[in-house]
Amino acid sequence: MSLTRDFFMMLSQNKVLNSGAKRWGLKLGAQSVVAGTNIKEMVESVKELNKVGISVTIDNLGEFVFEKAEATEATNQILGVINAIHENKLDAHISLKPTQLGLDIEYGFCLENLREIVAKAYEYNIFINFDMEDYGHLQPSFDIIDELSKEYDNIGTVIQAYFYQSEELLQKYENYRLRIVKGAYKEPENLAYQDKNDIDRNFIKLIEYHLMNGKFTSIATHDHHIIDHVKKFAKKNNIPQEKFEFQMLYGFRKDLQLKLAKEGYNFCTYVPFGNDWYGYFMRRLAERPQNLNLVAKQMFTK
Ligand code: FAD
Repeated sequence: MSLTRDFFMMLSQNKVLNSGAKRWGLKLGAQSVVAGTNIKEMVESVKELNKVGISVTIDNLGEFVFEKAEATEATNQILGVINAIHENKLDAHISLKPTQLGLDIEYGFCLENLREIVAKAYEYNIFINFDMEDYGHLQPSFDIIDELSKEYDNIGTVIQAYFYQSEELLQKYENYRLRIVKGAYKEPENLAYQDKNDIDRNFIKLIEYHLMNGKFTSIATHDHHIIDHVKKFAKKNNIPQEKFEFQMLYGFRKDLQLKLAKEGYNFCTYVPFGNDWYGYFMRRLAERPQNLNLVAKQMFTK
């Protein structure tokens, strides 16, 4: 793992900067990868993407919340996003992080917040994706998914290929709509592959398994090597287009996003918005230091 990556990972977890940044507005170039700070701005961005045939998963930014009032506020904001999707007839669903809804405060409290969100979305036929966070939150997040799945079927989640246990998880949740990713957090050697080649190899293995055996696969990556591989694999194995989609983050590789949509593949852009952009943005910088160009450019032009 490089020093640069470690440095940005450390910044992403800094509590003072995370909470301070909420008052700054979008800064440091974050506006290129975050679709505004409020629902109105986000809806406009989603409409633009829908117009060109791209569907969207909306993330009301926030994570690592430690106060009940803040988690309740986040719950209400996400209910607001669900209403906005319904009222504006957006081609969109929700991505959320359990720690934003109180997972670090009290399991039962978080479960009830999520139940309210999933129930409301179910009423409007809107899908809810549980993003997966760091290893410490994995098991309780899956416990909540198991619990809510007894009542609702509009739930899916994420499998992170860097974990040694990801194949086991994938098989357990193969009847779910799953997003498969490489994994964004810093995890120790006893739990996760560290080498890029190992992660890529496992990523491909999981994608192929879920395409062949699973319900619906969201392949979430900016890596054109993986995307090209998946295209060939799907063709060779007659995987119907309705069984998978590609996903990328808002603001990244826009030309490639459009190209894939134009080629007729289902494409879904992950659209984050809100004041709590700092941790998300720092993780993006950790993944790809070239994104630093964004920062430099914005500093000199704004
Ligand atoms: P990388 O391994 O970062 O890049 C591989 C290669 O792709 C690069 O060497 C380069 O050749 C090319 N490339 C990559 N980016 C660019 C670019 N911007 N421009 C040009 N070429 C590029 N992680 C989680 O842990 N939990 C989640 O819930 C989660 N959800 C996600 C949802 C979406 C929609 C996406 C896209 C990612 C999500 N992630 C999540 C993050 C993910 O785990 C990875 O950390 C992140 O996507 C970086 O890996 P990558 O596959 O995009 O490619």
